[in-house]
Formats: sequence, C-alpha cells, structure tokens
Amino acid sequence: MRKRRLKKSAIIIPIIIIIIIIGIIIGINFYKKINSYSYKLEKLGYKKDEVEILLKLKDDQIENILKREKNIVIPRLVKQKYFIFENLDRYLKYYKDHEKEKKETIVSKVNVNRDSDYYTNTKPADTSKGYGILVNKYYYLSKDFAPDDLQDVSILYSYGEQKLRKEALEQFINMFNAAKAENITIIVNSSYRTYQYQADLWDNYSSAHGPEWADSYAARAGYSEHQTGLALDVTTYGVKGQEGFEKTKAYEWMINHSYEYGFILRYPKGKEDTTGYSYESWHYRYVGVDLAKKIHDSNLTFDEYYAYYMK
Ligand SMILES: [Zn+2]
Repeated sequence: MRKRRLKKSAIIIPIIIIIIIIGIIIGINFYKKINSYSYKLEKLGYKKDEVEILLKLKDDQIENILKREKNIVIPRLVKQKYFIFENLDRYLKYYKDHEKEKKETIVSKVNVNRDSDYYTNTKPADTSKGYGILVNKYYYLSKDFAPDDLQDVSILYSYGEQKLRKEALEQFINMFNAAKAENITIIVNSSYRTYQYQADLWDNYSSAHGPEWADSYAARAGYSEHQTGLALDVTTYGVKGQEGFEKTKAYEWMINHSYEYGFILRYPKGKEDTTGYSYESWHYRYVGVDLAKKIHDSNLTFDEYYAYYMK
C-alpha cells in the first residue's frame, strides 16, 4: 500500500513541476511579446510590412514613434535611403503642403533645408570641415573669413588675376596637365572672391535690375562658395559665354575626370531645386580627392551628401 502511494506521487510531482515550468515560459514569452516593439507598433495600427521598416530605427527613435499617433506617412519616409530621423517633423510638415511630391523628394529637399526659403534659417558655415566646408544659401561665411593659404594662379592656367587655396591649386595643375596630355586646355576663369567683391557684385545687379534679379544671378555676400578659395569657374579656348563651355571637349573631360583630382561639378543639371542654383557646367568645387570620389559615386549633390554623411 505504502509502496503504491509513493509511486503515484513520484509521477504527479514531476508533472506538476513541468506544468509550472511551461507556464512560466509561456508567461515570460507573453510578457516579452507585449513589451516588444513589433507588438506595440502593430497595436498602434501599423501593418506587418510597416512594422518591419520601423524596427530598423534605433530604440529611442522607435520609442518616439510609439508616442505619436499612427501615421502611414512615417514608415514611407523612414524607408527612404537618405532619411534622417532628426528631420522627421520637418518632413511631415513639408509633406502636408506637398502631398503630391515623392517621399524621396521630400526627404531630399528637407535634408538640404529647402523647407525654408533661401537665405532664411541660415547658419554659419562649419569651417572645421576643411576642404569639405559647405557654403550655400543656408550656410554663410562671415565678412572677415578669408583662407590663409591662398596662392596666385599663374597666367599659364588662368584668365585675369586668380587665387586658389594651395592644395586646390596644386590639384588643379595636376588636372590641367592630365587634360593637356589629351590636347585639352582647362582655364581658370574665376576663383577666389572676397566678401566685399560679392557684396559689390550683388549690389550692382540689384540697383540695375532689382533684388530678385540680383538673387537669381549672384549669391549674396557671405553665401558664395567662391569666398572659400575652393571654387572655380572654368573655361577653355574658343568658348562664347559661360554656357558655351558645355559644348566643349573640355567639359566632357571634366565630367569624367575632375573627381580624380578632387573636384566636383557643384550645380548639376536637374538639381536646381536642391542646390539653389541654375545648372552651371563651368562651376567646380575642390573638396579633396577622397571626398570627391565618394560624392561622385553617390550621385548626390554636395548639399545632399553633406546633409546625410557629414553634418
Ligand atoms: Zn562659380
């Protein structure tokens, strides 16, 4: 009798222990699930594929999304290659007024500050970026900013008296020689300009044709890349006006090779709304060889590249 009872409890006790363990495991998993981001996002109303996109964000960013109401625009923005989380509210605001624009365009425009009018919400340019400094209609140089390593460009390579920063000039000469070996001559037409030069230029335009006209043809003082000593307008022999450069072999050579020497086409065709400038086939910018290759390979404008990778 005693023996049988022992046998019974010997079976029941382990079964109870196993049930308790299974219960605990199920409980823990359930607890984990309801505390998981995917569960919370789904509960907020996001669909599986949207949740998947949102889960790629960092924890604090997901927490931020969870504090908001469900908004199907958010995952569509997050999905964009150049999405920057800090810009989320600005994307959403811009989207409200531009619902028909592609999400890709919205991200690109806000990244380069196009949600503000030109020359509004401006900031000082970050001079600590060296050859990667960005100067545009939102980032300006102070009145007394002047590079300390400007050098005269020999008339062998230029029209008029021109200056460039030392390394930009050295690389220009390397580029000049490489092009020359293919019977192509690249000439510096305009390079370093002082703040005052730009101020006078804009004022002249403005008094002759009005400020709007001036704004569409010249940068305001402090906002011209030429003040960095890293920008140059190029030309070649026999070109009529700046626009004529596009039809030359020199133009083609520059498009294909300039980045190898650290120069990028700064205001490309079709990117007017991003750069804030009409297409300028002649305006190049020295950024250094490594950065020029990266920008060239990214297919982005410098403004877009800077916003995503360098800011
Ligand atoms: Zn220029």
